[in-house]
Amino acid sequence: MNLRNVFVFDHPVIQTKLTELRDVACDHRKFRTLLDEIAGLMVYEVTRDWPTKEQPVDTPLERTTGIVLARQVTLVPILRAGLGMADGVLKLLPDARLGHLGVRRDETTLEPVSYYQKLPPDIASTEVLLIDPMLATGGSGAASIAYLKKAGVTSMKFVCLVAAPEGITALHRQHPEVPIYCAAVDRQLNEKGYILPGLGDAGDRIFGT
Ligand code: URA
Repeated sequence: MNLRNVFVFDHPVIQTKLTELRDVACDHRKFRTLLDEIAGLMVYEVTRDWPTKEQPVDTPLERTTGIVLARQVTLVPILRAGLGMADGVLKLLPDARLGHLGVRRDETTLEPVSYYQKLPPDIASTEVLLIDPMLATGGSGAASIAYLKKAGVTSMKFVCLVAAPEGITALHRQHPEVPIYCAAVDRQLNEKGYILPGLGDAGDRIFGT
């Protein structure tokens, strides 16, 4: 398949944690901790090419010129499973604001249905990370990206944990310029739209429902 603009983190520490996450015996407490840790590790690489600017700083000894991120950051979890990655990202980007997009999947048609949107008013001038652990059909991801574009966002990245080939293709058919970052590209979707081998329903496993 075409993996252009798809970045897969093959780092051994991330892969070890992902394997633990996939395990059906991993309970919600451990699942939350692992997801949090992986999200944090991914941020480090995801943000690597963000623009920076010089900023003067007074050390205890003298004034010098430091480097800081040039733009504000907005984190947009797709509800509800995206919330499971938010804290891990915020640990590295504590000044980020949080927008929320509620998109659920119609269980019959598998089409995305939008039910909630709340974004910072100046989101258009910020770097945006759209987060959702599972890129399955790509429906909610593509709908969320379309919504963010309508809100004026010009710089965004899609960060997930596990991606299905079908989801990557669908998302990039509509939004080829949006980079996808993930820890794994799995084999396929099943007839219910779950990723195989995947890790089950990420929302249920995060929240213990
Ligand atoms: N959403 C999930 O939580 N898991 C999948 O496998 C697919 C979509």
